[in-house]
Amino acid sequence: MTSSNQSFYETTLKNFDQAAVLTKWPKGLLAQIRECNAVYQMRFPVKVGQHYEVIEAYRVQHSQHRQPTKGGIRYSSMVDQEEVMALASLMTYKCAIVDVPFGGAKGGIKISPRKYTKDALQKITRRYTVELIKKGFIGPSVDVPAPDYGTGEREMAWILDTYQTFSRGSEIDAAGCVTGKPVRQNGIRGRTEATGRGVYYGLREACDHANDMKALGLTPGIAGKRLVIQGFGNVGTHTALIAQKEGDAKIVAIAEYNGTIYNPDGIDIEALIKHKANTHTILNMKGTKTIHKKDGWLSLDCDILVPAALENQIHMGNVNKIKARIIAEAANGPITAGAEDVLVKKRTMILPDMYLNAGGVTVSYFEWLKNLSHMRFGRMDKRFNQNTYVNIIDAVERLTEKKIGKKEKRLITRGADEIDLVRSGLEETMVNAYDAIRDTYKRRQKVPDLRTAAFIVALDKVANDYMAMGVFP
Ligand code: NAD
Repeated sequence: MTSSNQSFYETTLKNFDQAAVLTKWPKGLLAQIRECNAVYQMRFPVKVGQHYEVIEAYRVQHSQHRQPTKGGIRYSSMVDQEEVMALASLMTYKCAIVDVPFGGAKGGIKISPRKYTKDALQKITRRYTVELIKKGFIGPSVDVPAPDYGTGEREMAWILDTYQTFSRGSEIDAAGCVTGKPVRQNGIRGRTEATGRGVYYGLREACDHANDMKALGLTPGIAGKRLVIQGFGNVGTHTALIAQKEGDAKIVAIAEYNGTIYNPDGIDIEALIKHKANTHTILNMKGTKTIHKKDGWLSLDCDILVPAALENQIHMGNVNKIKARIIAEAANGPITAGAEDVLVKKRTMILPDMYLNAGGVTVSYFEWLKNLSHMRFGRMDKRFNQNTYVNIIDAVERLTEKKIGKKEKRLITRGADEIDLVRSGLEETMVNAYDAIRDTYKRRQKVPDLRTAAFIVALDKVANDYMAMGVFP
């Protein structure tokens, strides 16, 4: 917990309560939705070098109103039960907002991955997976983990292999036990970039509403908007890269745990990725100024602040330093409840985590569907579509007696590959979800902000499911 602020879990509950009173659902039902259904706290030994270490880890399933439950696994020295409970709760609402038919879950292992070798991380990951298997906390129809802070496709491949080892080939859908896997290991193209790409689509959507931008004193459109991003890991990197390449946004600063780099004219993100790969840090990048001051990123002059690292980064101690008019929550829970009150009073637009970073779970859903169908998206219809388009072009050319250029022809007749379908499905999802949230915010009375609106959208869907299911026995 930060000194002058609520814990992440308290903030999540406060946000829930604020929205719950604005819904029509009975108190008992809301109380059921609010709580986590199952919390599995575990301790297991792992031999690291010559020593044995006792590892603390968690898996929390927040709601089974839809199954399987779904949520990432985080490796961080700050993991504790409440943090995982908060993240699992957010997963339920996130899935509901983007119409992904899963309940929410989350996992966490209390380790700092930087301090372990690859071999040690593999041991820890495999042992954690076995603990989940033993208690029935993993499986394609039960609970499906994915990457989160400190984990990526490498860990997901280890989880898959461990799960398949124990299912002894008897489970035909075993590959769907985890998502975010490498493409060659039953993964899907576009999963790694998905959360960052979703953040970009969400931001672009919000910026396209001219009246909303006018109210913030900004011009419409994402092009030219100045972004400051905290965290240059999976989510931060892809958000920066895609916003710059596809949206023409200007990334003026990137912050990491050891400092911030700044250039008011914009940072070349592709060059920064190379610089980080070569030097293992973002700092001292050519053409940028390095700032070492704590919270240095947060007070910079910019239009959009994108926290993409960890929770509780914006709190009562630093909220008044913020100049940005839009905060895009790429990370989960980056703003404490107290700081949020200050920002809402200042009419800062906050694009809430449970919507904005839902691109990851959306594409995880596509990956899970791919695993169950045992086939790559586009395989059945790509050629068929391509041939149909060629026939149409031929007919148009014949009828008009005019030739279409080679380049245009290639563009028009191209059938969709898996990556095209994934990106298009993600874009459709993020656009529709934003419209639903904005509509609730604008149309319903007493809804103070987009987060409350997002909660209401989610609660209505989850509550409807519970009402339809009834109570057993
Ligand atoms: P990651 O581990 O790939 O990257 C996080 C980055 O933040 C790292 O580079 C780390 O060094 C940096 N960081 C840590 N502390 C920092 C600090 N105090 N200041 C600046 N930088 C700091 O993690 P990620 O997957 O990118 O996740 C980031 C956030 O996004 C988390 O809140 C996570 O829950 C959320 N998220 C991730 C996904 C996903 O698909 N990976 C999906 C939804 C939400």
